[in-house]
Parts: sequence; structure tokens; C-alpha cells
Amino acid sequence: YGPSTEDASAARDWLARRGAFGHFINGSFTKPGETFETRDPATGEVLARVTQGTADDVATAVKAARRAQKGWAALPGTERARHLYALARHVQKRERFLSVLETLDNGKPIREARDIDVPLVARHFYHHAGWAELRDTRFPGHAPLGVCGQIIPWNFPLLMLAWKVAPALAAGNTVVLKPAEYTPLTALAFAEICQEVGLPAGVVNIVTGDGATGAALVAAEVDKIAFTGSTEVGRGIATALAGTGRKLTLELGGKSPFVVMEDADLDAAVEGVVDSIWFNQGQVCCAGSRILVAESVAERFETLLSARMARLRVGAPLDKSTDIGAIVDPVQKDRILTICHAATDAGAELVGGQAQEGCFIAPGYLKNIAPANPGMEQEIFGPIATLSTFRTADEAVELANNTRYGLAGSVWSESATVATDIAARIKAGVIWINGANMFDAAAPFGGYRESGYGREGGAAGMRDYLAEPAVKPGREAASK
Ligand code: NAD
Repeated sequence: YGPSTEDASAARDWLARRGAFGHFINGSFTKPGETFETRDPATGEVLARVTQGTADDVATAVKAARRAQKGWAALPGTERARHLYALARHVQKRERFLSVLETLDNGKPIREARDIDVPLVARHFYHHAGWAELRDTRFPGHAPLGVCGQIIPWNFPLLMLAWKVAPALAAGNTVVLKPAEYTPLTALAFAEICQEVGLPAGVVNIVTGDGATGAALVAAEVDKIAFTGSTEVGRGIATALAGTGRKLTLELGGKSPFVVMEDADLDAAVEGVVDSIWFNQGQVCCAGSRILVAESVAERFETLLSARMARLRVGAPLDKSTDIGAIVDPVQKDRILTICHAATDAGAELVGGQAQEGCFIAPGYLKNIAPANPGMEQEIFGPIATLSTFRTADEAVELANNTRYGLAGSVWSESATVATDIAARIKAGVIWINGANMFDAAAPFGGYRESGYGREGGAAGMRDYLAEPAVKPGREAASK
């Protein structure tokens, strides 16, 4: 479906009906407190007012989660599975509404919200319904952690919620989740879905607010913090939690390599760039933001790339033919442009990438860029890649690993031997071969180095929401 007026007006009616939102605590919405605006970045229009969570609000939510946790954990796995399954079904039933709401709040093209974000949300809950049943056979003796505080970013608002909430609940934990201040709306719509499916009160709590609310959650009586966001904030959270014994997982930034070998299918690789750095306006932690191309094919590759780039349509996110929507907020747009200026000041050449009126930036790439250029080192988190060349496979690997991050990578080659050899030598949590930005709930996602630690998805993701069984020396000796 396209930008159906009906779907858009269902989302707008919902917003108009609600006007201002409180938090979702213990199964119901609180009265709005002091509020802030959330806007449509494409038009600047105020969509709703949302409550700025205080430390007291956070404490109330944590208490509700604590009260609910024992009962939730005591349910048979099949019962927790039934609830997760119901959440998945209801996300599917409301997928048009959720896609439009996500696009309005975030600025991403409706095509992406509809075909990628929301279906993956449902998939994540379905997958973890399975884990709720499998927990005790796959992780014998493990126990849930208790109450998990979860802090998420604005680039995939509902999907990041699903990545956090589904495994936590499958394992038997309860949660207090704080969505990003730019994009709180789909989390609040999800709270309604929790009510619709009859999820026990207090199992999912949502407290809205900015970084101060996030910091209050980090300081609260929770058993784990799961954070996705910038490396800078992640580092502060790790420091705050040091010595508390609370579990922490961090999904942080990236500057992932996109390696095009001499024998790659260049048309496919160019399409891969579109999916990689020009997906979600480049606001993707695992975006292939450093394109590295074999020198012998670099000229041909760039000709194809610039022709494809020129055909991308920048425009209204609700228009189904739009490829590049709005950057989430004017502050983020300025951040992107500042890094691009620093890169060109340091000698790089920017192809495309023009700032447009409002929150829009055309797709682009930086070429003739030195390894120490700020555009090469910093995460731009916008639709601008870097383009550089290499001569040998060893040099490709060296350049790919020349980063403080280690989240993802992508290798393009028609030879399985070449591709797997290069892939194995890149230090990153996820490597795609002849593909990019492919996600599955069963596949663990996470980073190395400054991209963070811990995994989300699959068995590894479940393990991060469980406590190891305490080893009883007597029993261990007896079993020998
Ligand atoms: P951010 O770190 O500013 O914010 C992320 C979340 O943390 C928001 O909810 C914010 O309110 C909260 N927050 C801010 N300050 C806080 C504090 N002091 N204590 C606790 N919480 C605080 O990041 P952002 O600008 O929202 O997101 C962009 C960054 O996130 C990029 O660097 C990107 O690479 C990274 N990211 C990583 C992944 C991943 O899976 N690794 C996914 C998406 C985004």
C-alpha cells in the first residue's frame, strides 16, 4: 500500500484523540506530567506532547516491574510464549497504522517502515515466543535477571523496542523501557497493544523522556541495563554501573566497511550500497559507511554508483516512491553537515550530499579522502559514505579494520573462497557476503571494540537476559 490517506488519517486521528501522553506504568497510562513536543521532521508539524519522565516516574515504573516479575517468571514457558505470540499478531494486525506512525515520527520512507521495520518487529516477537518455550531446555538452571532497564535510540524506534522487549520477556524478566525523545510514539502505541493482548500489568512499562530520564533509569534499582545508542553515552553508562554488579549490554556506534573485490558483481554491489548507507537516510548503526573498492574496478564502480545515486528520490516520507526521507531532527542534520564540512576542509571531495530545505540531505559520498580525515574516522550517521580504493586483499582487510568500531561489514565477490577469507579477517560482529543490512531474529547482532558488547537475537541474545546457574561444588563433585 502507498501513502493511503486512510492510513495516514488513522494515525492522525489517534494522535489527535490522545493529544498528550503520560507514561505506561503497571498496565495503564499515567496522567501527562510536564511534557515536550514530538514533531514530524519532514514538515516540522507537532505530532503530540509526551511526558518528560522524572526520577520518581522511573522509580514507580521499576516498582511495578518488580511486583510483576515473580508472577511473570513463574508462568510456564508456554504461557509466556502465548503472550509474545499475541504481541506479534497484534503488531501485524496494526502494521499499517504502526508504519505510518513510525514514518511520521521518524521521517523514514513509508516503504521502509512498512516492508522492513514493522515486519521485523513481528518476526522478533514470533521468534522469541519460541524461546519462551525453549528456555529451560536450552538453558537449564538459568534464571531470569529480574527487572531490565532498556534505553533505545530513534533510528528504528519500534524495532529497537522489539529487540529489547521480546528476549527480556521470553527469559522471564519484566522491563522498563525508555524510547528516544525524538521518536516516542510507536512505543506508546505498543503499550496499547500490551493492553489489548492482556499482558499482565507491570510486565512492560514505558517511561518517556530525554537523556536525564535515561540517566535516572541507569541509577534505578534494576538488574540489567540494555542500551542502544551513541558510544559516548554508552561509555558514561558503563562508568555509572561500574562496581554495582548489574548486568550491562551496549549496542553502540559503527563505521562499517563495505568491501568490493575485483571480481564482484558491480551492479549488485551498487545496489548493496543503496541498501547499506542510503537506507534510513544512513542513520543505521551498521551502515556500510566506508566503501572500499579494488583499484582495478574503482572507476567503473564509481560511474555506476553516481548514476544510481542520481536516481534516488529525496522527498516526502509518506510518498511510497520516496527513497530518502527526512533526517530525524534539525540537530542531527547539523551534526551530519558539520562532519561533512570538516571532511571537505581536510581535503576530501563531496559528491552529492547537498543540504536541502527542512530536514533533508541528498545522498552523497566523500572521495579522495585520507585515512586520518574526520569523515573517515567519525560516524556520520547520515546518507554520506566514504569511497576509497585498495590494491591487494591484505590492504582491503587492513583498511577495513582501521577503525575503533567493530559492528558490521560487507564483502562483495563472486568467489566464495575470496569472500569468506576476507569476511573471516574483518573484526566485526556481523559480516554480510554479497548483501548488506540483512537482519534476522535468530542471528545474533552486536559489536566489538567501541561498538559495544553483548548480543541481541538468537541464543546469544537470550543468554544476555539470563543469569548463569550458581555452581554447587558438592553436586558437581557428586556428578563426576
Ligand atoms: P544517544 O546515545 O544520544 O541516545 C540514545 C538513547 O539514550 C536515547 O533514548 C537517549 O535519550 C538516551 N540517553 C541520552 N543520554 C543519556 C544518559 N546520559 N544516560 C542514559 N540515557 C541517555 O544516541 P542517538 O543519537 O539517539 O542514536 C545515535 C547513535 O546510536 C549512533 O551513534 C548509532 O550508531 C547508535 N546506534 C547503535 C545501534 C546498535 O545496535 N549498535 C543501533 C542504533 C543506533
